[in-house]
Amino acid sequence: MSFPILRGSSLRETEVGKKVTVHGWVHSRRDHGGLIFIDLRDFGGLLQVAFHPESHPEVFKLAESIRSEDVIRVTGTLITRPASMVNPKLATGKVELTAEELIIFSKAATPPFEVSADTLSVNEETRLKYRYLDLRSERMRRNIRMRHRVIKFLRDYLDKEGFVEIETPILTKSTPEGARDFLVPSRLHPGSFYALPQSPQQYKQLLMVGGIERYFQIARCFRDEDQRGDRQAEFTQLDMEMSFVGRDDVLMLIEGLFTQLVETLYPEKKIMQKPWPRLTYHEVMEKYGIDKPDIRFGLELTDITELAHASEFKVFKEAKLVKGITAAQSFSRSEMDELEAFAKEEGAKGLASAKVTADGFESQIAKYFSLELQKKIATAMQAKEGDTLMWVADEKFKANEVLAALRNHLGDTLKLRDPNLLAFAFVVDFPLFEEGKLENGHFAPSHHMFTMPKEEDLKLLDTDPAKARSYQYDFVLNGYEVGGGSIRIHDPKIQEKIFSLIGFTEKEKQYFSHMLKAFSYGVPPHGGIAPGIDRLLMILQNEPNIREVIAFPKNQTAQDLMMDAPSWVSEEQLRELSIKVTKRE
Ligand code: ASP
Repeated sequence: MSFPILRGSSLRETEVGKKVTVHGWVHSRRDHGGLIFIDLRDFGGLLQVAFHPESHPEVFKLAESIRSEDVIRVTGTLITRPASMVNPKLATGKVELTAEELIIFSKAATPPFEVSADTLSVNEETRLKYRYLDLRSERMRRNIRMRHRVIKFLRDYLDKEGFVEIETPILTKSTPEGARDFLVPSRLHPGSFYALPQSPQQYKQLLMVGGIERYFQIARCFRDEDQRGDRQAEFTQLDMEMSFVGRDDVLMLIEGLFTQLVETLYPEKKIMQKPWPRLTYHEVMEKYGIDKPDIRFGLELTDITELAHASEFKVFKEAKLVKGITAAQSFSRSEMDELEAFAKEEGAKGLASAKVTADGFESQIAKYFSLELQKKIATAMQAKEGDTLMWVADEKFKANEVLAALRNHLGDTLKLRDPNLLAFAFVVDFPLFEEGKLENGHFAPSHHMFTMPKEEDLKLLDTDPAKARSYQYDFVLNGYEVGGGSIRIHDPKIQEKIFSLIGFTEKEKQYFSHMLKAFSYGVPPHGGIAPGIDRLLMILQNEPNIREVIAFPKNQTAQDLMMDAPSWVSEEQLRELSIKVTKRE
C-alpha cells in the first residue's frame, strides 16, 4: 500500500477533474479581480490554488486571512488552466486547484527573511539561526534532495558489489588522523575520556581482520579543526575498506562508482577525461604546485631556477626556486598590480612578470636578462608572442603554494573553471612521510601510520626513509581533494618499523598494540578510501561551500546557532563527571 498523503506539487494534467486534498505552506498570495490565488508550497514545489467568492463564500472569507508561511490544507477540484494562464516555469504550471474546503493548521509569524527560491543573498548567520526556514527555500530543498539521492546511489551500488554497511562506534578512542579530537568525559570512569572518531580507520581495518571483506559506512567524522568553506567540525565520509585488494582495484571501484553516479544523477555534467587520469604526486607538485590540482584548465607551472640563476636579477640569482606561469594573453598595468597584490597576500615577496614580444621581454626587469636568456626562458615556458609570464622566487614550499593559489585565481578571473565540467583525477605515489624531519628528528606520516610503503621502496626505510613512496592515493575533483585512502600495512614487522621512524615510544606503541595483536591472528591484505560526501555534493550542486549541502551545519566558529551549541552545562552535570571548569567565555 502506498503512502496516502498526496503532494500538491505532484499533480499534473492527468489528474484534472479529480477531487483532491493537499497540504503545505502558503508561498505567496495574490488578490486578483475578486479572486484569491495562492501558491501552495510543499517539499516538491508549488501548486496554484484559486479561491472563488461566489461558489464558496465561507472558504473565500477564510482565505482572506491567510498569510505567507501559514500551514494549510485545501480540498478542491483540479482544473486545467486556460492557455493564457499556463506557467511553463512550474511543473504544475498547466493545472490549478479550485478550493472547496480550507483548514488553517498553523499561523506563521513574519519570517526574518523571505523564503524565496534562493536565500544565498540573506545574511548567513540569520539563515543558520533560522535554518528550518532556510530549508523551505527551493535551493536548499534541492540540495537536501540530491544529497539523499547521492547517498542512496552509493548504498545501492556498493550493495550490488557485495559490500555491507556497518556502523562503528561514535564513542571511541582517538584515532591517529592528525587532527585534534573532540573528547567526551566518562561518568563511569572518572578522569577518562572517549574521543569522537576522526574517522573509523582502526575499526574498518579490524573489520577486515573480522572477515567482513567489503565494508562501507556513511560515516560521521569529527575533527576539532579551524573551520573553512570546505571543512566542518563534523562531516560525512563514504568510508570504505576492502580485503585482498591492491591499489588499482580500489581506484577502479571508485572510478566506476563515481562515473556512474554522475552519469545517472547529473546528466548535465560532463566528465572531462575517461578513464580518469592518474598523476603522480611528484608530477602534480611540479605542474600545479599543489596535490589537489584543478585540471580543467592549463596554466601549468615551469621551474626555471637554473635559467634564472644565469640572469643578473639579484632576486632570481639568490632564490632557491624560481617558478612561473605562462598565461596566453596580456594584462593591463592595473590587472598586473592586482595579481601581484594577490600573490603578496598569499605570502609571496613579489610577483615578477614579463610580456613576450617579437623583440624579447617587455618588463621592468628585462634589462637583467640577455636576449638569448629571454628566448631560452620563453621556450622553457612554452610561451609565444603576446603571452604573459609571471614568476615567484622563494623557498620551494612557499613558491608552490603561492603559484598554486595564483593559478586558481587566474582560473577564476579568466573564467576557465566551467562548473559543468568535472575533472576527476587520481593522485598516486605520495611520499610515505611528510617532507622534512620533525624537530625531534623523526618523521611524520604523510597520510596515516597504517599506510603501506611501495614494495620497491621498502629498502629505503633503512637507508633514506624521506625518499620512500607509499600506496597512498587521493581522488581530486575540480581543485578539491574529495577523498584519500591507502593500501594498509598488514605485516607487523613493517608496522613496527613505521612506529619507530615516527618516533613512537614503547608506551605509544602499546597504544596500538590491539592492532598488532589482531594482525597476529591472520590478517588479509587490505586497503580503503574515504570520499567526503559534503565536499562532493558541494561541487556537484555548484555551491560555494559545504554548509549549503548540510541540513544543520555549524558556522565558521563551529557553533550551531539555531540550537546555541556548544553551551554551558549545570554544575550538577559537571560534578557527576568529576570535571572542574577553569575558564569560561
Ligand atoms: N581514514 C582516512 C581519512 O579519513 C581514509 C582512509 O585511509 O581510508 O582520510
